[in-house]
Amino acid sequence: MAGKTALIVLAHQERTSFNYAMKEAAVTVLKKEGWNVIESDLYAMQFNPVTSRDDITGNPKDPNHFKYGSETAKAWKEGRLTKDIVEEQKKIEMADLIIFQFPLYWFGTPAIMKGWFERVLCLDFAYNYKTLCSEGPFKNKKALLSFTTGSLQSMFTPSGIDGDINVILWPLQNGVLNSCGFKVLAPQISYSVAHVSQEVRVETLKSWEKRLETIWDEKPIKYLPVKDFEDFSGGFSLKKEVEESLSASKYAPTVGQNLGKPLPPDSQVKAEGSRLS
Ligand SMILES: Cc1cc2nc3c(=O)[nH]c(=O)nc-3n(C[C@H](O)[C@H](O)[C@H](O)COP(=O)(O)OP(=O)(O)OC[C@H]3O[C@@H](n4cnc5c(N)ncnc54)[C@H](O)[C@@H]3O)c2cc1C
Repeated sequence: MAGKTALIVLAHQERTSFNYAMKEAAVTVLKKEGWNVIESDLYAMQFNPVTSRDDITGNPKDPNHFKYGSETAKAWKEGRLTKDIVEEQKKIEMADLIIFQFPLYWFGTPAIMKGWFERVLCLDFAYNYKTLCSEGPFKNKKALLSFTTGSLQSMFTPSGIDGDINVILWPLQNGVLNSCGFKVLAPQISYSVAHVSQEVRVETLKSWEKRLETIWDEKPIKYLPVKDFEDFSGGFSLKKEVEESLSASKYAPTVGQNLGKPLPPDSQVKAEGSRLS
């Protein structure tokens, strides 16, 4: 993978954690495979996750009502975002692949990583309403979530107490990554790492290492392309003809665009072609 760059964004406080071990495994294997690897170890960097006026330099457009989205978009265009945001944006620009490594906190990322999304993925740099999703700014990059859970795998099923993992993943994988155009690779989920045996944890690390050897060749998860939707004036609704063309299929096209049908099995945990259609 000479010439390709991977960015690993880690959100864990401890170097002795399983998340840190997953991050280290990724750094080692990717480097061995010829990748240039860069890292953002958010707790070690003491990354500030709080959005505020202090994220821009110079005068705000409207000091009486500071609108974070439009103020930071303008500051991005004019080179007035603060240094810590700009540094992270440069890393994204360099990266072909981004791995987000974190423990699942309240069905999402730890706040420090959520704050990274909020501050770094600013309007016009990472998304805008003219080029959404499949046409988004990062359409030539791949990204994946690698996370650990406290709950057992059986708890993340349609009949489990936490509910279907595909539903839990939709906001992060579609709402953040696909919205910015990233090709979203299947997540790496390490279930219940504190409660499994040491042998299982060692096996988990080994299979992650194996996967990383060929990760760039993986096909992404399927999302509906932006051309299937109306534009802003049409409210970004699914085009009638697309909806009609999907009417015969047994399953919904996606978790979100479910058209009232059964959710497509495994659609957020497996790439297209490796699941039921
Ligand atoms: C605020 C909060 C919210 C949470 N919300 C959720 C939730 O919504 N859903 C859910 O399922 N869980 C939730 N959890 C639980 C959380 O996801 C788990 O505690 C976390 O995923 C465990 O990962 P870790 O890296 O911290 O594990 P650790 O406890 O650090 O590690 C697990 C084990 O792996 C061992 N280990 C470390 N390195 C290696 C290595 N190289 N090889 C083999 N073993 C190793 C460690 O010694 C330890 O025994 C939440 C936790 C918190 C604090």
